Amino acid sequence: MKYYSTRHIAPKATLQEAVIKGLAPDRGLYMPEKINRLPADFFNEIGNLSLTDIAKVVAEKFFGEDIDKEQLNTIAIEALNFDIPLKKLEEGVYVLELFHGPTFAFKDVGARFMSRMLSYFVQEQRLENMKVLVATSGDTGSAVANGFLGVEGIQVFVLYPSGKVSEIQEAQFTTLGQNVVALEIDGTFDDCQALVKSAFMDEELNRKMYLTSANSINIARFLPQSIYYFYAYAQLAKQQPVDNVVVSVPSGNLGNLAAGLFAKRMGLPVKRFIAANNRNDVFFQYLDTGNYEPRASIQTIANAMDVGAPSNFERILDLYGQSHEAIKQDISGNTYSDVEIKNTIRTVYEKTGYLLDPHGACAYQALKDEKKPDETGVFLATAHPAKFKETVEECIGSTIEIPQRLSAFMRRKKQSHLLSTDFNLFKKTLFNVS
Ligand SMILES: *Cc1c(COP(=O)(O)O)cnc(C)c1O
Repeated sequence: MKYYSTRHIAPKATLQEAVIKGLAPDRGLYMPEKINRLPADFFNEIGNLSLTDIAKVVAEKFFGEDIDKEQLNTIAIEALNFDIPLKKLEEGVYVLELFHGPTFAFKDVGARFMSRMLSYFVQEQRLENMKVLVATSGDTGSAVANGFLGVEGIQVFVLYPSGKVSEIQEAQFTTLGQNVVALEIDGTFDDCQALVKSAFMDEELNRKMYLTSANSINIARFLPQSIYYFYAYAQLAKQQPVDNVVVSVPSGNLGNLAAGLFAKRMGLPVKRFIAANNRNDVFFQYLDTGNYEPRASIQTIANAMDVGAPSNFERILDLYGQSHEAIKQDISGNTYSDVEIKNTIRTVYEKTGYLLDPHGACAYQALKDEKKPDETGVFLATAHPAKFKETVEECIGSTIEIPQRLSAFMRRKKQSHLLSTDFNLFKKTLFNVS
């Protein structure tokens, strides 16, 4: 299968090229040339299938032409080797818990899938010196670092702004060792990102090593996220025949939502989607007016959604042939302030005993506000509430437990290289640290 750029200037790429490059040379995002549909009988039987059964089938539809079947099955099984349960919260309202992976956030799925796919290409093509660079303000770094931990033939550099990520986030990528190198930059997140960008453009580095990014624009991280939408439907269908399913997605860079739209295009019987924004509501405004006006992000308590120029917006536009009308048919949206998010966390906890994290709370509220009585609603809970301990404790007025697996990170020894924002120093580190 070939992959084209959403900007249609760069030449089409193979899967391997698209995965290694990440962004297309014209700065567009790669899209698969065709989207394979799943047959009707797959959906008749889906209630009997496990997560790994589904992962194998869906991965085959995406990548089956380009990766050996046995190997692809192994990649899918390893990437999704944790539970993604669907739980009933209220009549007609279900939560899909995407936070049971190594770093307690949904990005684990994509990061784990991508790491194994990249490792497959590294081994198949005997690529030497493959390095993944990731600049992080917190959660992406931990998902990518843990996703690639111990994966053969690939070294990961996580750049993060010193003193500007939470203690628990920092522990999740500075205590790993092995093939994960944490670079603590004496600067801001933007400085980290600038260093990574400079590295991708540096002629000498690109001659001597393979450099790739692992953010959600990468097709190997993005597409596999479709899998759990099928699994959500499977768990609903197992209980009773369902139609009129709507899915609410807490949205930042829109990778998660776009993956759901791919699932629908492959035949998944979801009637429509709801995009939940915090006050960084560029996408909500687009739905409302038809105008896309990116702007600087502002800080909120759902900080993984603090995105002012959502990168996967281009993919959504492309999927719908640039038609605002067509997009509106499939997606509605809503936007919430920090105060509203906190209120939701509190009232849901009081009413049901279920503890939401700020991102899941946005999605829950959007579902409640947008769902019609005859619809069955699913919302995605993208992070474990304990990752936002202070915020949720303030909402519910009591303390919560941190899962043992999460607090274990905090007890391990921090290892990081403290660097200035000087590019040559960073470059030297890329050559010398092994
Ligand atoms: C990254 C993230 C999101 C936003 O996902 P996008 O694919 O960027 O829209 C939502 N919630 C959590 C917890 C995240 O880490």
